[in-house]
Amino acid sequence: MDTCIFCNIVSGAIPAKRLYEDDELVAFHDVSPQAPVHFLVIPKRHIQNIMELAPGDVALVGRLLHKAQELAVELGCAEKGARFVINCKSDGGQTVDHLHIHVLGGRPLAWPPG
Ligand code: AMP
Repeated sequence: MDTCIFCNIVSGAIPAKRLYEDDELVAFHDVSPQAPVHFLVIPKRHIQNIMELAPGDVALVGRLLHKAQELAVELGCAEKGARFVINCKSDGGQTVDHLHIHVLGGRPLAWPPG
């Protein structure tokens, strides 16, 4: 998807502060961090949002979640925890239409969200 920001990060056309990359996933720091730790993990393949997942994506999503956890630990969130968030479509507050999980940590976060 030429017009997708995150596809352009995957290809390298748009720079990002990468934390991790393999054949299926990329993780990078959020450009507008909302907490001392704020990064995103995305599948390289363009999946619009969580509503678009198919049964064949189960292993990919498992890897996505596990990588989010591993990187949260690496960035110092093991003891106090973190928030793992997937926004979906307009009511969910999704602004980039390429599936991603946010990991936010390093400070206490309020609940419920506004
Ligand atoms: P969401 O609102 O859940 O779709 O989250 C999209 C996130 O992507 C926001 O937190 C943005 O700050 C972040 N974002 C948008 N463009 C970039 C970029 N070029 N590099 C890193 N993060 C970005």
